[in-house]
Amino acid sequence: RFISVEGIDGAGKSTHLAWLTDYFLNKGISLIQSREPGGTGLGEKLRALLLNDAMSLETEALLMFASRAEHLAQVIEPALSRGDWVLCDRFSDATYAYQCGGRGLDKTKFTALEQWVQLRDRGLIEPDLTLIFDVPLEVSQARMATSRVLDRFESEQQDFHARVRAAYLERAEQNPQRIRVINANRSVVEIQSELAEIFADYE
Ligand code: C5P
Repeated sequence: RFISVEGIDGAGKSTHLAWLTDYFLNKGISLIQSREPGGTGLGEKLRALLLNDAMSLETEALLMFASRAEHLAQVIEPALSRGDWVLCDRFSDATYAYQCGGRGLDKTKFTALEQWVQLRDRGLIEPDLTLIFDVPLEVSQARMATSRVLDRFESEQQDFHARVRAAYLERAEQNPQRIRVINANRSVVEIQSELAEIFADYE
């Protein structure tokens, strides 16, 4: 299985991802945890460029998908072929949310890149299940205000993050079978019990 985890910055994604990894490992599931942009040697170099260097929107989108192409070929496809699970911190929905929603990348360009990169021998590779951790903007902004040094995306204005969030929710509406929106504006314990319920039957 291929599961991706998404959310705007400050939604609590990292906390829940760590919990999910433990939860799956405790179930005895053979799991690879990875991230985008990143996930391979080259991908991590691309990530450093993406998070620190100014660039045109087209370049940004192409580098996101370049990182993804490498990640699919080197990590995700081999893992799925072995029967391992892949738990990925962000995937294409993040590109839709940040580059299309946040920055205004043309959605037909996004779809073309998605087809080009994710259409592989075994068909279009996308997660079987995507969890979007969703919080209102005030909550994510307050969490970010108290956090570490911000990268170039996190330091964007509030309306950028509002557009990213709206694009995530729009993507969820368009893909109700694959995407689940988790209300992350609750206590960690409440969220974890919802996660445990979602994955109770998975083995
Ligand atoms: O998930 P993580 O916080 O590690 O992501 C690093 C940064 O890259 C975040 O600020 C995130 O918003 C940004 N990002 C992006 N477009 C993507 C994926 C991540 O702007 N497609």
